[in-house]
Amino acid sequence: MPSDHGDVAVVGAGPAGLAAAVTAADAGLDVLLVDAADAPGGQYYRAPAPGLGAIRPEALHHGWSTFTALTARLARHRDAGRLRHLTGHQVWAATRTGDDRVLHALTGPDGREGVTLRARRLVLATGAVERQLPFPGWTLPGVVGAAGAQAMLKSGLVLPGRRVVVAGSGPLLQAVALTLARAGAQVPALVEAAGYRAYGRAPLILAANPDRLAEGARHRAGLARFGVRMLTHRAVTAVHGTQRVEGVTVSRLDRAWRPVPGTGRRIDCDALAVGHGLVPQLDLALGLGCATRTDADGSAVLRLDEDLRTTVPGVWAAGETGGIGGVRLALAEGESAALSVIADARGGRAPARVAALRRHRRRMRGFAALMGAVHRPGPGWPEWLAPDTEVCRCEEVTAGAIRTAVDELGAGDSRTAKLLTRAGMGWCQGRTCGFAVRTLAGPAADTPPDRRPLACPVPLSTLARAVRSEDA
Ligand SMILES: Cc1cc2nc3c(=O)[nH]c(=O)nc-3n(C[C@H](O)[C@H](O)[C@H](O)COP(=O)(O)OP(=O)(O)OC[C@H]3O[C@@H](n4cnc5c(N)ncnc54)[C@H](O)[C@@H]3O)c2cc1C
Repeated sequence: MPSDHGDVAVVGAGPAGLAAAVTAADAGLDVLLVDAADAPGGQYYRAPAPGLGAIRPEALHHGWSTFTALTARLARHRDAGRLRHLTGHQVWAATRTGDDRVLHALTGPDGREGVTLRARRLVLATGAVERQLPFPGWTLPGVVGAAGAQAMLKSGLVLPGRRVVVAGSGPLLQAVALTLARAGAQVPALVEAAGYRAYGRAPLILAANPDRLAEGARHRAGLARFGVRMLTHRAVTAVHGTQRVEGVTVSRLDRAWRPVPGTGRRIDCDALAVGHGLVPQLDLALGLGCATRTDADGSAVLRLDEDLRTTVPGVWAAGETGGIGGVRLALAEGESAALSVIADARGGRAPARVAALRRHRRRMRGFAALMGAVHRPGPGWPEWLAPDTEVCRCEEVTAGAIRTAVDELGAGDSRTAKLLTRAGMGWCQGRTCGFAVRTLAGPAADTPPDRRPLACPVPLSTLARAVRSEDA
């Protein structure tokens, strides 16, 4: 009977974590599935809040039947007592005591109640957050994250505006623009900083992933039907408006993503949904000492073997933590990680399914690497910034202040720039501005990811209790 101690704990009930949890429970392991959200599904299968009374929650989704099949398995295992699904539990640290991996979480009505969970094995499926590159006007009301707009619509059934420009880089923008248009927004343009032709340089990878090609074609046909103009090699370089967004300037970019002077054109709109890809959430993994590598899009991702083991014994990872790759890859990796956990717990021969999943994963990871390389931010993007553009929103640190720290005070890396300017020291602890500060402060690729002992703010009393329980 599962308690606060399991054979395996899975953090994250998105596609990867759900697949891992039900596969492990299928094999009879005691599973703890822990997630900060109130419902399973993660980012992709984000459902409308129950109070909204949505009649067709599947209307904004693809592959909803996959999700309902997973949640049906989840319910069966929960009812049979093989799996505990702990919703509303924000894990703030993962540690190790003896043979156990220990999770410290916050829960309760005000999110201040401390809980400790233990398991022999741990699967980290904590997903990703949106990468934001700053530009003049990005702090004006009406500017929202592109993935954030998708999340607002899926969970709150609200649009960020009536006329919404979608901008940034990455294939997610097409999905976002289409969902907004289908939900009734006018989308005058999708502004992509890279170009789609670069995908053509890898015909073998494309041929191996016909589903992704078909998805792209479906999105483009849908966008054409709604009259959404696709502008490539362009970026929003200014936002206009006093109280909120009234329009944006879109400029052509050169190959390095530097704006080409004299190419700016205004597009009127009342909202801008903007994002430049996603970056994995690695706080818990980094806290445990898991090694990372730099992915094709320039972000740090976990270093994993083909069975999804991290470099720390007893810790696996699946989904976006190992690199941004989409929902199908997350589902396959969740299942693979669980099969490896089962083999570790029970011994015996690996089932034939393992080999098939490995092939499947290699194929999809190939496409993910191509996608990352095509949409990797060009080195010239900081030229979008004006001296007074805020880079760190929490501490209101401008691009000019960071450049002064680098050029005049000798800061040669983001840590020194942070100490001199407070950039990245606010509430979000650099999760939003970290990439931008690293780029402005020095060679971003050479800087290891920030390692934070706490994945979210924790009351001191909870911290003290956790330290005492570890000492006991
Ligand atoms: C805002 C947003 C919207 C997106 N929308 C789409 C979309 O519409 N279409 C699309 O194709 N892709 C979308 N994506 C990409 C999407 O993340 C992936 O394709 C897919 O959901 C990845 O699955 P995953 O299981 O790896 O991670 P996720 O689905 O992100 O699941 C991670 C889960 O981990 C939980 N978690 C994280 N940290 C902790 C912690 N410390 N304690 C407890 N729980 C934790 C989260 O609450 C979440 O439920 C979106 C991404 C983001 C960031």
